[in-house]
Amino acid sequence: MLLAGGLLLAGPGAASADTSADAPEGPDCSVDKCIALTFDDGPGAYTDLLLDTLNEHEAAATFYVLGSKVADNTGTLQRMSAEGHEIGNHTWDHQDLTELSSQEIQSELQRTDQAITRATGEEPGTVRPPYGALDQTVRQSVNQPMLLWDVDTRDWESLDSAQVTDAAVQEAAEGSVLLFHDIHASTVEAIPGVLQELEKDGYEFVTVEQLFDGHSMESGSAYSNARGPFTEDPAPQTGAPAPRTEEPTAQAEDTAPNLQEPRPRPEGPAPQTQTEAPVR
Ligand SMILES: [Zn+2]
Repeated sequence: MLLAGGLLLAGPGAASADTSADAPEGPDCSVDKCIALTFDDGPGAYTDLLLDTLNEHEAAATFYVLGSKVADNTGTLQRMSAEGHEIGNHTWDHQDLTELSSQEIQSELQRTDQAITRATGEEPGTVRPPYGALDQTVRQSVNQPMLLWDVDTRDWESLDSAQVTDAAVQEAAEGSVLLFHDIHASTVEAIPGVLQELEKDGYEFVTVEQLFDGHSMESGSAYSNARGPFTEDPAPQTGAPAPRTEEPTAQAEDTAPNLQEPRPRPEGPAPQTQTEAPVR
């Protein structure tokens, strides 16, 4: 399924002389208008269909997977990796890390890193804490940068493709990190429209690593977008809960984590019972 890139580089037969070295490697976010689509809680029954859609649009994405789901979905993870997507760590089983000890946090993350590395040969570069929940213990216990988001489509709440598309298209800005969950059919069905609309607005779809390329990201620090000035996300530094804004941003989760993301639960068919891909 590397057709899209292959077709770009080489037409059938003839033009093979030009295909060798210096074909463009994709978007350059220092020039292009880049955005990162991120998909949490999978892989699930619809993830391969999502990968088909991303391929059709030559769009890269980042998947924050649960370590507990890796062993049953090794092929899907290998496909993500082979097709230019990034895989990040979303803990082993979706724990709120602020409720765990430092040792427990590290265990959640290390088990997941190991599972992903076994499946793909590549270690994840970033962590997405479930619910975006983090505190000082989490910051001190995580050995990678933490990636939050600035556009929350709340797809798990609406389960409505049109609403998901509207939220993504209306709230996205250059350097944004958009949050989706690929365990929902309604989300995966929304992505063709999301890509079409954002393409019209001139966006290039890149991985988190590509979006933050050139910026230094520190282990244990949290980031929600790649717009300058490039500073760490202003998450609470003390135990005292910060006053909440009404905006459903990633910062709002420390005190109300359950408003941000549901606990993962079976949505439709279980991942093992892969169904026929819906007719497009
Ligand atoms: Zn999640």
